Amino acid sequence: MKAPPFQYADPDGVADTVALLAELGDEAKVLAGGQSLVPLLNFRLAQPRYLVDINRVAELDYIRPLDGGLTLGALARQRAVERSELVRERCPLLREAIQHVGHVQIRNRGTVGGSLAHADPAAELPAVVTALAGHLRVRGPSGERVLNADEFFLGYLTTALAPDELLVAVELPAWPAEAGSCFLEFSRHGDFATVGVAAILALDDDGRVERAGLALIGVGGMPFNATALVEEVLRGERPDEAALRAVGERVGAAVQPDSDIRAPADYRKHLANVLTRRALQKAAERARTGDGEQHSYGH
Ligand code: FAD
Repeated sequence: MKAPPFQYADPDGVADTVALLAELGDEAKVLAGGQSLVPLLNFRLAQPRYLVDINRVAELDYIRPLDGGLTLGALARQRAVERSELVRERCPLLREAIQHVGHVQIRNRGTVGGSLAHADPAAELPAVVTALAGHLRVRGPSGERVLNADEFFLGYLTTALAPDELLVAVELPAWPAEAGSCFLEFSRHGDFATVGVAAILALDDDGRVERAGLALIGVGGMPFNATALVEEVLRGERPDEAALRAVGERVGAAVQPDSDIRAPADYRKHLANVLTRRALQKAAERARTGDGEQHSYGH
């Protein structure tokens, strides 16, 4: 099917975009990479009167260092992130996760901001931002606000973005240089994840857990932030087999997924348990051994 008719604007600056969104309100939709929005239009699941195309807003297309961490403009293409040397050096978890997004053609067009704003419950990037305790910068008619992942992701395809707000950037803070991370997912060939896990562990000199981050996708309408649960079990402990098995079981018991055509709820709970254990095991191994490109959270 073809998209329903719409009016089109392509401003070339953030200020103009925000002004347009303020004027058009909920009759408008932002168009970024179009990889989720265009199918929704073609299936008539979205029928906005206006499309505000941000592809000419060059000031939103960047990947930059920020206080030992990273900041990514909303229009940074997923493929550019995957290939970025800076991302490889500073945020191997993001690099590992983004390779699971669709396929290369999708990532060539798909943007960081589009994925976060779309908030698919099986999308990889929301899990990374949640696990790393990142921040989202949102610009609206009355200025900018900064939200953490738990404030931004509100439910199935639902975020805290108001119709007249633009997601402008995501910030991923620095983690200790010795931290190890791992992204794992189970999916059918070429499909969205059934369940996925983003994990990061920082160990002290004695090999005990100093800090952890863990988020799951595919187990509910939005990323499941399991950081507090993991830290409760692991902080100050060595992440050995028994401890990681206990965390996996706690996480598997805590998530409350729905059944759908991809998998029944109890299978998702089983995957949450097993993938949590394996992702933390790998993250700990990488933290201990400094496994090449997966190791560095260096500044
Ligand atoms: P668009 O499609 O342009 O926009 C998506 C939504 O976000 C729209 O509602 C739009 O209004 C809003 N939006 C976009 N940018 C902003 C902004 N800056 N501020 C406010 N609102 C904004 N994704 C995954 O995560 N994992 C996958 O495995 C995966 N597989 C895919 C497979 C296929 C075949 C396809 C077609 C897509 C797949 N995707 C997957 C989706 C893909 O990652 C999209 O790129 C992403 O979901 C949306 O990014 P986009 O830039 O294309 O946004």
